Amino acid sequence: MLFGPPGAGKGTQAARIVDLTSKPQISTGDMLRAALLEGSELGKEAKSYMEAGELVPDDIIIGLISQRLKVDDAKNGVLFDGFPRTIAQAEELAKIAKVDSVISIEVPDDSIVQRIVGRRMDPETGEIYHVDFKPAPESIIDRLVQRKDDNEFTVRNRLKAYHEQTSPLAIWYENQGLLIKVDGEQSIKDVGDEIISKLSAR
Ligand code: AMP
Repeated sequence: MLFGPPGAGKGTQAARIVDLTSKPQISTGDMLRAALLEGSELGKEAKSYMEAGELVPDDIIIGLISQRLKVDDAKNGVLFDGFPRTIAQAEELAKIAKVDSVISIEVPDDSIVQRIVGRRMDPETGEIYHVDFKPAPESIIDRLVQRKDDNEFTVRNRLKAYHEQTSPLAIWYENQGLLIKVDGEQSIKDVGDEIISKLSAR
């Protein structure tokens, strides 16, 4: 499980862990964005929460995850990214799956806003870039998109939700001996190296 505030680099590091372990990445944020694009019932329910930077209600998220875990590719383990975000979600997860490791990517609040407002995505590959920290190649710059909730106002709410509802989970998992803390302010490669070496040392 990848844990940390919005903009910590969970999606970026997930790509490397998926390559290494061949386990599917399950990102509730990506699943909700896909539902929003499709205009499904789920998308309609989640839209206002996401646009306000608030958490989507637990029952919606838990329903989504229990369906996703029934898919064949989840049989040999998965990498959660952005889930669970509340103690209630973690408690439900504990009933249906065993958590091996929780990688907490630690980044102070001061850095988060700058990281998020500069974030861009290539819709063709899903690759995540940053205008300063990970510039995209010139040839694809015109097609990059910015997430609708990656603006300064929404980021403040997302950070508030993180501190109030999600960060208590770190202590919850630490008490279970599952939390691995990683310094998220290093280069993308160094964060990934630290994750891999700490995971292998377990
Ligand atoms: P993310 O892509 O992980 O930053 O998620 C984007 C938005 O989707 C969040 O700001 C929430 O509104 C919603 N979301 C994603 N995952 C969860 C979750 N596990 N619980 C509640 N809301 C979520």
